[in-house]
Amino acid sequence: MEQTYLIKYGEIGIKGKNRHLFEDALVRQIDLALERLQGEFHTRKEQGRIYVESDGSCESWEVLEALKKVFGIVGICPVMKTDDRGLEALGDDMIRFLEEGEYDLKGKTFKVVTRRARKSYPVESMEVNAYLGGRILEWCPEAAVDVHEPDILFHVEIRELIYIYSRVIPGPGGMPAGTGGRSMLLLSGGIDSPVAGYMMAKRGVVLDAVYFHAPPYTSERARQKVEDLARQVAVYAGPIRLHVINFTDIQLYIYEQCPHDELTIIMRRYMMKLAEIFAAKCGCLSLVTGESVGQVASQTMQSLAVTNAVCTLPVFRPLIAFDKREIVEIAEQIGTFETSILPYEDCCTIFVAKHPVTKPNLRAIERSERKLAEKIDELMEEAVRTAEVVEIRA
Ligand code: ATP
Ligand code: MG
Repeated sequence: MEQTYLIKYGEIGIKGKNRHLFEDALVRQIDLALERLQGEFHTRKEQGRIYVESDGSCESWEVLEALKKVFGIVGICPVMKTDDRGLEALGDDMIRFLEEGEYDLKGKTFKVVTRRARKSYPVESMEVNAYLGGRILEWCPEAAVDVHEPDILFHVEIRELIYIYSRVIPGPGGMPAGTGGRSMLLLSGGIDSPVAGYMMAKRGVVLDAVYFHAPPYTSERARQKVEDLARQVAVYAGPIRLHVINFTDIQLYIYEQCPHDELTIIMRRYMMKLAEIFAAKCGCLSLVTGESVGQVASQTMQSLAVTNAVCTLPVFRPLIAFDKREIVEIAEQIGTFETSILPYEDCCTIFVAKHPVTKPNLRAIERSERKLAEKIDELMEEAVRTAEVVEIRA
């Protein structure tokens, strides 16, 4: 059966004269999300509303599942669409709406809210409310009207056509992809960075990603895992260009030249530097990481400061004040957790010192890095030159 959905969008409704840009971006993302489903869909913008029409080839729950992943949507309302055939016919439509939606109003209170967007409609909103309220009470005498705190709200919107709806299925909120600029995500195989990417995407940020691996110390399966994670994030974020960067020689060189307790922090500084090079290539104006204060030695305040010191772009760390438990909760909800906990090696866990510095001093670290002067530029260039790009789509 054909089905229409009214899309509610909160925050993007308030963007003044840029509003249409946000609406267009939302329509684009809705179309993209529905492309993967069977059947024909038509998304249209009409007077500050977005409607999705489905030809009914796929189940309503499938449409809802897809729309629930589109950032920018606050609520999804299955609506009944009818022609204007007079007030009595509208009453009949209302009863059909209740029957088809299997509403049980016994012992419940309700309210009808009519919006007359088409001012030429001959009956005033209040009168429509009263008439439809009466019809509903006839249909279910055990129900009662409560205009202050009703259990159920019935919305009637009178436009060219008339729309009746009640249920609002919550959407994910946030902003439509592409309205928040572009950012480079440092994506590892862990639990945190996919969640960090998801959170930025929720604000409308388009993501590119870098992944550092260290073959043969890290395996092909570890890399596959990161591609899988990127694909799961792409369900929400849209397509992601993943740059796979060979970090082995840089890591070995640092291991040879620098104190081992500083290995991780120095490595992290080079990761950031490389990420910035790829950010510039891709037009990203910022970096994103999954860091959280105090989680590990490389994420103490001092370590974060020393890592950050090499960056010229803003580094966004959406998980900075989250507990692991809270991060895991989101990872489970977005479906990355099961993949993240697969036990493959990560380049950060090979060659690590038993007791890494937890309070690194920037001058001391810079002094150690001078020992890399001879070959590091060349190795960085090599890493940039040999990076592979994988286009990741959900
Ligand atoms: P995650 O769970 O995201 O792997 P983590 O708790 O393991 O994080 P670290 O290993 O210290 O923490 O990494 C901190 C952040 O640095 C990660 O969230 C990620 O953004 C980035 N990062 C770490 N390793 C890599 C890697 N191999 N490739 C790309 N980015 C990485
Ligand atoms: Mg990690």
